[in-house]
Amino acid sequence: MITNNLLEAENVSLRQQLGTLLHEARQNEDKMRRFDQLERLLIGAGSLLELVRLLLAEYKLAFGLEFVTLALVDRDGEATRILESGLDSGLNSNRACTGLTLLSSPAPLETLYKALRRPFLGAFSEHHRPHFNAPPGAIASVALLPLTRQGELIGSLHFGSADPERYRTGCATDFLERLAEIIAICLESALTQERLKLAGLTDGLTGVQNRRYFEHRYPVEISQARRYKHSLACMFLDIDKFKRINDSHGHQTGDEVLRRVARIIQSQLRAGDTIARYGGEEFVVLLPQSGLHHARQVAERIRSSIEEIRLQAHSGQAIKVTISIGLSMLPDTEQAGQHPQLAERLIAAADQALYQAKNGGRNRVVCAGNLPPGLARNSRWARILRPLRTCVSRLKRVKFYGRPRRQP
Ligand code: GH3
Ligand code: MG
Ligand code: MG
Repeated sequence: MITNNLLEAENVSLRQQLGTLLHEARQNEDKMRRFDQLERLLIGAGSLLELVRLLLAEYKLAFGLEFVTLALVDRDGEATRILESGLDSGLNSNRACTGLTLLSSPAPLETLYKALRRPFLGAFSEHHRPHFNAPPGAIASVALLPLTRQGELIGSLHFGSADPERYRTGCATDFLERLAEIIAICLESALTQERLKLAGLTDGLTGVQNRRYFEHRYPVEISQARRYKHSLACMFLDIDKFKRINDSHGHQTGDEVLRRVARIIQSQLRAGDTIARYGGEEFVVLLPQSGLHHARQVAERIRSSIEEIRLQAHSGQAIKVTISIGLSMLPDTEQAGQHPQLAERLIAAADQALYQAKNGGRNRVVCAGNLPPGLARNSRWARILRPLRTCVSRLKRVKFYGRPRRQP
């Protein structure tokens, strides 16, 4: 009888243990499934901004957490530039980056993790506060994950919970360690991809954006101007008689002039404006939310600053640099027309105004009037007119110098 009772008690205890183990196994399985889903999302992120958004928003949702913040080491401001560049214009960068801190040195993270660089799980303490933007008393326990690559601390991910039992010292950290490794790899690869993207969109000589970037940016600016009923100014800028500078002083001097001109144009623009090298010695500028008066002032400042460039040739001779600028406006009242047509008209108008500036004697700003919409850069008319213009300008040169100029 006694033996029977003992066996029954042992049976009950074993069943309870089995029940607990099964419950834990199911919980772990569920956790693993959610980690797996999140990791797939992270690996599939198309840009640095999307990755940051996923880390800050998706983890919170997937694991029902109150606070998630991320710190990234950004020594030379590269990540800041990438996130601000607006390449990911489809995402709201301000909202996506809430909870992100960019650090100019890893020192604050080194203090946090010491030499061990292992995840920390445990009660919230005051020295964790700078890493969370949370009101007092809102966080009871935290998990802090160091993100490292090749032994270097590249960032840190922080989870904060109102539940004091959520993260306890001594809890297993296998899942979190694996997640931290995957995040660090994803961050490194996103940065490398963005670097390549930027390199493909930047002009190697002048350091400003290239035409490819402009063609990507231009429709975005047009649609934003229309959606928010903002005006948009477009400028075409072309260095005057640049071929003569090349011919007389050599290509290296020509290159230096191009770099100087690009720097001057850039120095007159605001952070949200766009400058791109459109080709050869031609630049294009977009000024969102800029009325005609302001745009004209900017153009005039650029023109006069370039006129003041003081460059000396090897011979000691002073090199004179001037620029002609064509300006066109998409007014804030512009509602009619499809985006591609509006875009084409705006560019055609600036191009035509530039042509007038050249014909009017160069070194001047011309604002477009109402121009025929058919004169777009790549329209049939433009294709017919372009070689004619070149021909006329070549003929003028022959007459002026008495002999054709040698090709650079
Ligand atoms: P205009 O006032 O009518 O604009 O005359 P221009 O001489 O500036 O115009 P043209 O189109 O005849 O010549 C442009 C020159 O720009 C020809 C080309 O060799 C030179 N060029 C284009 N790209 C570069 C470059 O990257 N570096 C240098 N040094 N020259 C370049
Ligand atoms: Mg020129
Ligand atoms: Mg030109």
